[in-house]
Amino acid sequence: MYLTEQELQSHLSSPSFRLVSEAADELGLEAYVIGGYVRDIFLNRHSKDIDIVAVGSGIELAKAVARKLGKRATLSVFKNFGTAQVKAGDLELEFVGARRESYSHDSRKPIVEDGTLEDDQNRRDFTINALALCLNKDRYGELIDPFGGLDDMEDLIIRTPLDPDITFSDDPLRMMRAVRFATQLGFFIDPDTFDAIIRNRERISIISKERIVDELNKIMLSPKPSIGFELLDKSGLLPLIFPELCALKGVEMIEGIGHKDNFAHTLLVLDQLSRTTDNLWLRWSAIFHDIGKPATKRFDPRLGWTFHSHNFIGEKMIPAIFRRMKLPMNEKMKYVQKMVSLHMRPIVLADEGVTDSAIRRLLFDAGDDIDDLMLLCEADITSKNPDKVRRFLENFRLVRSKLAEIEEKDRVRNFQPPVSGEEIMRTFGLPPSRPVGTLKESIKNAILDGVIPNEYEAARQYMLQKAAKMGLAPVGQTC
Ligand code: ATP
Repeated sequence: MYLTEQELQSHLSSPSFRLVSEAADELGLEAYVIGGYVRDIFLNRHSKDIDIVAVGSGIELAKAVARKLGKRATLSVFKNFGTAQVKAGDLELEFVGARRESYSHDSRKPIVEDGTLEDDQNRRDFTINALALCLNKDRYGELIDPFGGLDDMEDLIIRTPLDPDITFSDDPLRMMRAVRFATQLGFFIDPDTFDAIIRNRERISIISKERIVDELNKIMLSPKPSIGFELLDKSGLLPLIFPELCALKGVEMIEGIGHKDNFAHTLLVLDQLSRTTDNLWLRWSAIFHDIGKPATKRFDPRLGWTFHSHNFIGEKMIPAIFRRMKLPMNEKMKYVQKMVSLHMRPIVLADEGVTDSAIRRLLFDAGDDIDDLMLLCEADITSKNPDKVRRFLENFRLVRSKLAEIEEKDRVRNFQPPVSGEEIMRTFGLPPSRPVGTLKESIKNAILDGVIPNEYEAARQYMLQKAAKMGLAPVGQTC
C-alpha cells in the first residue's frame, strides 16, 4: 500500500506528466494530480481520468500544456466552471484551479472562490479521494495527504475529511458515493461517517435522479453489489430512492409457517448472478425479478404462502419504477420486463418435465435472450440444502441441453411465422379482422407444438385446413 517516493515518481513517469510539470514551472504555478487517479495508484487499479489542480489558473495551465503537445492535442475550455480539458489520443487531462467552496443550507450550488491546495482538499468527499501528488520539478512525486487517506486505504475505511454532517449536507450525493466506493472497493464506512448518512438521508431528495442512478449503476456493476444495497438499507436511503425493493423485506408467519425474506433472497440472487455476468441490465433484472411478490402474497391454508403471477405483476410494475427513477424507458427496460416475466418458466420446466413443445415456446418467447434468462434462473437457486441445489442445477442442465437440441432442429429462437397476416388476408379476401389473428395464432401454435414443421408449405396447408373448418374459402373458391 505505502509506496516510496521513487515508486510514486515511476507512476508519474509518462511524458504527459512531465509536460504538465514543465508548463507549471514556466508559469510559476503549483500543480498536483489529485483525487481518483492518485487513490487508484495506491489501490493498484487502473484509472483513466487524470485530474490536475493548479494553485492559480487551471485554464492557463491547460493552454500551456496543449501548446506543448502541439497539433495532436485538443483543448476545451469551460470558462463558466473555470475548468479545461486536454485530449491527445488516449490521454485525457482535466484541469481546474484550486478552489474553496462554501455552501448555504438552502442552495445546492456552492459559492466558489480561488483557494489553496488545502482548501481544495477540504472540499473533497473522502480522505482517500483527497490525496495529491505534486508535479513541480523540485517536489516531483511528493504526496500531500492531510487527512490520513493512506492509512484509511490501508484500513479499508471510507471517511469524510471534515465533519461528515457538513460534508453530506453540503452535497448529499456524497452519501451515495460513500456507499458506492464501499461496494466497489470492499471498504467499510467509518461509523461516524455512516451515522451522518443516517442523519442526513432525507437531503438526498435535492439530488437529481440521474445522478442517483449513475451511482446505483456503479454499485450494480461492483463485484458484490449486495454490499451497496445493504448499506443503502441500513442507512435509510433505500426507502427514499427505491421503496419497492424495501417492500420485499421481512418474514411473515401464519400458523407457524413463514416464507423466505425476499429482500435477502433478491440480494443473494444478484450476487450469484454477478459472478457469472457483468451485463448491467441482467443484473437489474435480478433486482427486479421478485418485485411483484409483496403485491401477490397470499396465505393459503392448504398450500402455505403463495405469490401467484408475481412475475407478471412485477413486469407490469417496472415502467412506473423506471420512469420515477429515471432509468431508461427503452429497449433496456423491455429486456428487464421480459426477464422478469419469463423467470419462472425454466423452473417450471425443470420441475414438471421437459416437453419439446414447452421448450419451443420458451425459445420463441425468449428469443436471443434465452441464455441470459438461464443465467438468471440458475442464480435464482438460493436453497441452503445442497442436495436440492444439485438437483435443480442438474434439471437446468437438462433444460439447457434440450434447448440446444430443439433450437438446432427447429430454429424457433427468432421464429417468424412462415405465413404472414398479409398472405392470410390476400388468400381469403379478408380485411384486418379477428379471423386473420386466429389463423395466424393457430399456425404459430401448430409449429411450436410440433404438429407441423417450421416450413412454408406445411404452414400453408395447415392454414387452408383450419380456414375450411372456420367456414373460410380462398378467394375464387367456395367452401
Ligand atoms: P470514478 O471515476 O470511479 O467515478 P473518482 O473518484 O475518480 O471515481 P470522480 O467522480 O471522477 O470520481 O471524481 C474525481 C474526484 O473529484 C474524486 O476523487 C473526489 O476527490 C472529487 N469529487 C468528485 N465528486 C465529488 C463530490 N460530490 N464531492 C466532493 N468531492 C468530489
